[in-house]
Amino acid sequence: MNRSLSITFARGARRVTGSNFLVEAKEADKTTRILIDCGLSQGERFCESVNTEAFSYNPASIDAIFFTHAHADHIGLFPKLVKAGFTGHAYATAPTKDLMPVMLEDSVQLIAAEAKRCNDVPPYVTADVEAAVEILEEMRYQMPVTVAPGITVTPYNAGHILGSATLLLDIFGTRLLFTGDLGRTPAILVPDREVPKDVDYLITESVYGNRVHGSIEESETLLLGTVKNCAANKGTLIIPAFSLERTQIILSMLDKAITDKKIPPVPVFMDSPLAAKVTDIYRRYPDFLREDVRARLLKGDDPFSFPSLSVTVNQQESQDIDKAPSPKIIIAGAGMSHGGRIRRHEAHYLPQKNTTLLLVGYQVPGSLGRRLKDGAKEVDIDGAKVKVQAAIASADGFSAHADRDDLVQFAEDTKPKKVFVVLGETEAATFLAQRIGGFLGIPVDVPREGETQDIPMQ
Ligand SMILES: [Zn+2]
Repeated sequence: MNRSLSITFARGARRVTGSNFLVEAKEADKTTRILIDCGLSQGERFCESVNTEAFSYNPASIDAIFFTHAHADHIGLFPKLVKAGFTGHAYATAPTKDLMPVMLEDSVQLIAAEAKRCNDVPPYVTADVEAAVEILEEMRYQMPVTVAPGITVTPYNAGHILGSATLLLDIFGTRLLFTGDLGRTPAILVPDREVPKDVDYLITESVYGNRVHGSIEESETLLLGTVKNCAANKGTLIIPAFSLERTQIILSMLDKAITDKKIPPVPVFMDSPLAAKVTDIYRRYPDFLREDVRARLLKGDDPFSFPSLSVTVNQQESQDIDKAPSPKIIIAGAGMSHGGRIRRHEAHYLPQKNTTLLLVGYQVPGSLGRRLKDGAKEVDIDGAKVKVQAAIASADGFSAHADRDDLVQFAEDTKPKKVFVVLGETEAATFLAQRIGGFLGIPVDVPREGETQDIPMQ
């Protein structure tokens, strides 16, 4: 039989964001084209038109797209894909399907702001989001979706965020596993990742490919210690929050610590309409949460809420946080401070000595969050020079990502014949590749963006 198979690493190779991979399976004169993710590129390459330039493939030729999870760097260009002529099937798990409209509505604002800064035309608008989410179909963990005769895609729990999936493509018997973003073990809110069997090729993320996370316990101790200090010094603690998963992790830790009387009930302002909407979706899917979290939820003890928590919705409520006396805690998006309400809080509170800024996630080079993490004494926020007098703390144990050792472990567990390392900065990706090659003796490659690799069939 005249068959061939290839992967094009359209985006998300040697970079953390912009996940977008094309698998092409040819049999005689028929080609089946499957996309994995269609994400936004974020951070260092703003204004390089990376989100506005045309796709390197013809969107109208794609048979199906599968989404690994609802983070913007995995879904954020889907409306653009549909606008550009995509008419195939689009699959996501039930939580991802619910999260996508909320997350994409937020992306619309991010890309509009980015386009304005760069004198570009935004790649899509709200109406395009509506058209895109309308065509989503549900896929279920462990249930194969048939794309064409002999070609199936099966999602497995990735243990990363609510509804996240690894995707196992079975193409005429050759099996390719895309990790999307892989969760750490143990995960914090969601059940631990599954290990699919009989994988021939593993296409693995490498966001933390060269680092080992601090433990969850260490980060929890840091968070609770910072809250106690904030209460004792009548200070302000600001936490730039990733609205999807990280915020819910922090809320659930605060909820538990307050119940257990480990911390005083300092007023907490969740100043993120996006995080509020996302948290509501978490409450809708107890079956996608870890057993202990699900048990709390089903018992009527909401793990994401406590009496000293205020959820601010409109701009006025957001502004009014300034007037609330300290001590107080402000959780606001975006997580890397590249947009959202956090920037106004940072401009206001960073010059104050009794402020602590607690970074709780990956900060992409070029982002405001990264500059603060790297110790900048003065930063530019929306045209104003802001002196940084606040203490900057960083907790990396809240990460919903696998770290170096976890990623090597997953490669060992899935036993592929070859590994492609993607979704990481070059340094992290090449480091992980060396580990996998050196420790496991598995052939490994770190592809470049735009590169197409032929995959030998079984
Ligand atoms: Zn993710």
